[in-house]
Amino acid sequence: MTRIPVPLTQFVVKMHSRCDLACDHCYVYEHADSSWRSRPKVIGDGILAKAAERIGEHAVAHRLSTVRVVLHGGEPLLAGPGRLRRAAEALRSALPPECALDLRIHTNGVLLSRAFCALFAELDVKVGISLDGDRAANDRHRRFADGRSSHPQVLRAVGLLNEPEYRHLFAGLLCTVDIENDPVAVYRALAELRPPAVDFLLPHATWEAPPKRLPAGGEAPYADWLLTVHGLWEADGRPFAVRTFESVHRTLRGLSSLTESLGLEPSDLAVLETDGTFEQADSLKTAYDGAPVTGMNVFAHSLDDLARHPGIAARQSGLAGLSAACRACPVVRSCGGGLYAHRYRVDTGFDNPSVYCGDLMTLINGIAGEGGSAAAPAAEPAAEPAAAPARGGEALLPAALAPAQLDELARGYGSAATVAALGNSQLALTRAMLAAAWDASGQGRAEAWELLSELDGAAAPAVDAVLAHPYARAWAARRLAGDLAVGLGPLAALAAAAAVRAGRGDAVAVPVRGGWLHLPTLGRVAVPDGEAVVTGRADGFEVRAADGSVRTALDQPLRRVRLAGGWTVALEDLDPLRDSHDHPVAERLPEPELLSWTGALREAWELLGRDLPGYAEGIRAGLGTVTPLRPGPAGRDVSSAARQAYGAVGIARPATAPTLALLLAHEFQHVKLGAVLDLHDLYDRADDRLYFAPWRPDPRPLEGLLQGTYAHLAVTEYWGTRTVAYDGLAGEAAERARAQFGLWRRYTAEAVERLAGSGALTGLGARFAEGMRESVEPWLAVPLPAAAERDAERARRERDERSHLRSVEA
Ligand code: SF4
Repeated sequence: MTRIPVPLTQFVVKMHSRCDLACDHCYVYEHADSSWRSRPKVIGDGILAKAAERIGEHAVAHRLSTVRVVLHGGEPLLAGPGRLRRAAEALRSALPPECALDLRIHTNGVLLSRAFCALFAELDVKVGISLDGDRAANDRHRRFADGRSSHPQVLRAVGLLNEPEYRHLFAGLLCTVDIENDPVAVYRALAELRPPAVDFLLPHATWEAPPKRLPAGGEAPYADWLLTVHGLWEADGRPFAVRTFESVHRTLRGLSSLTESLGLEPSDLAVLETDGTFEQADSLKTAYDGAPVTGMNVFAHSLDDLARHPGIAARQSGLAGLSAACRACPVVRSCGGGLYAHRYRVDTGFDNPSVYCGDLMTLINGIAGEGGSAAAPAAEPAAEPAAAPARGGEALLPAALAPAQLDELARGYGSAATVAALGNSQLALTRAMLAAAWDASGQGRAEAWELLSELDGAAAPAVDAVLAHPYARAWAARRLAGDLAVGLGPLAALAAAAAVRAGRGDAVAVPVRGGWLHLPTLGRVAVPDGEAVVTGRADGFEVRAADGSVRTALDQPLRRVRLAGGWTVALEDLDPLRDSHDHPVAERLPEPELLSWTGALREAWELLGRDLPGYAEGIRAGLGTVTPLRPGPAGRDVSSAARQAYGAVGIARPATAPTLALLLAHEFQHVKLGAVLDLHDLYDRADDRLYFAPWRPDPRPLEGLLQGTYAHLAVTEYWGTRTVAYDGLAGEAAERARAQFGLWRRYTAEAVERLAGSGALTGLGARFAEGMRESVEPWLAVPLPAAAERDAERARRERDERSHLRSVEA
């Protein structure tokens, strides 16, 4: 089946093709592929420049917000500081300003010096180090050619990276599992080095060259080894990230995997060799001589050419690309058939389960049995390919968002670039969910899907615009949750809208119900029920209805409000799937109501720029849609964000523009945090305790407390800014601002402490809570008149009493 191709966002650049160690488990020199023998030792500057140009043009064409490049080898430090500098500078200067470069180097650490660290600090290059555990474990394989241990040099390198000056460069450790090593000793030795992340990698093997087994090693020795480490890691409170474990936990809950070696996410990785040839993932070197070859090179082929290569496409086809045994396997959504290379067998190629099949199944079931599957079954068997941090298996280390981006978001804010990165990850998640829902539909080839896939290559901006629509994912989410009544029509409507935007003359049939043909992001056309054929043309579109009539214009266009600064937000009152918020949506707005919304939004945006400038930039970068909701009971303010509708907030138009500003800021916090939670585990999802938020009478799961706290960071700042602006002034508005500020700063600070003390946050979650604390603490120091403190205390007591009454009544 043709799939929507995934742009390549991760690149391994081979800086040097030789190594100063002679590790006997190395896939480059010790496995089936021998291509390294004929390659230049060092990559040339001309190749680097061309590669940077290719990556830059790919980033522009696909509007990528981040690309990750790993400087790799052999041993990349052998390329020397001058060439590493030129590589970093070429890459940075080739990327468009809106695309961030996540640049890393993966080294054995032997040559890492203070001078290299200073260079990497200057060039912002993160460093990952290979280390297999304690000295005995590391010495088993990672030795110099003369047999000497490399352990002391590697510890020295890690020591350098742990110095305060360079700690921010430390990306993590990569540890290849050997079942002869003591898992407890390996774990303790690695944990002692305080790495931010550790990747535990299964040694490369195939059905032709199976992994080592020990005579008394049990049925699944690699699983047993990893489960021992997993138990220690859990008992220690997950002190660092471990992609393998986190991926199992995530996929058991229906979220994406963080590594190419597990799960069903499409691969988006390419490798550039020192001679300028493009290859597929390095791990394929283990299969057979020449397995990673693509026949393409950086001078003759673009990255779009490479993305279409059948070998790469094969690693992007999810469930459909797996063997029959894997497709029928109960843990396939977590396992994904394991690493592609590990499936190889001479007679059947890659159409097999992993050679680690039994270990993978035992590992996944073992983690699930320890509580990993306690959460609800998957609503989203989903992935966020563009942002999933490290497809590329062994070569890469995690971080879907860069730490600085996550810290920025933790404080409540989010620059345009950071929010764009969230949007990009959500777009990829939508693609993956659409593909998964389509796979699950069992439809095989079909016109709408084929067209969407074709346009994704030929008219990517048109498809991106349609898939970035907040409710594009709603169809997939409902299908994957088992709601088959939603049918396949919405997918055809997405394809039709993309065809209209592309304007190439493509046609697609769309089922019509209720007398309206809806074209997402555009509007709707009144036509009789039946099947209408939509044709996108350079000068517009044509809809041929079931009765033969032809329409060439929208009867009800989607309306957008232009705001100060030249950006627009859609008022979505048409999409049949916009009913994704937990409150009824308003019908098509009549003109007077449209005018009221327009005025209120313009005023609210000006207020946001004035009172919440630190939040406004992110709102402008990420808020594309406001969906009008029906008014709440007795004029109560109603607003809602939906996890499956990134970029949209649902709001019943409140009485005043300041309230609208506050609701927009509040709800967009939920939008941002939802996208963060799709990328990172901030808390233990198996934690089923309920927590009281200071502002609510009913206890909620931890995520509810987290979401509320995050939203109230913006609320606190809003009232804080108003309070400062009213300093020394009297009047009702000033008094209200002070009372609200006094109330919300206290509530928010209390909630942060409740989160931090929950014992349910991951290491990353604790860091996130610390960012929230840093944001709210300065507000606690702002002096308030005694009367305002009394008002805040009274408001708090009233709330508490109402809460108490409600809980007694309950
Ligand atoms: S456990 Fe085995 S059969 Fe199941 S998906 Fe993984 S490799 Fe395939």
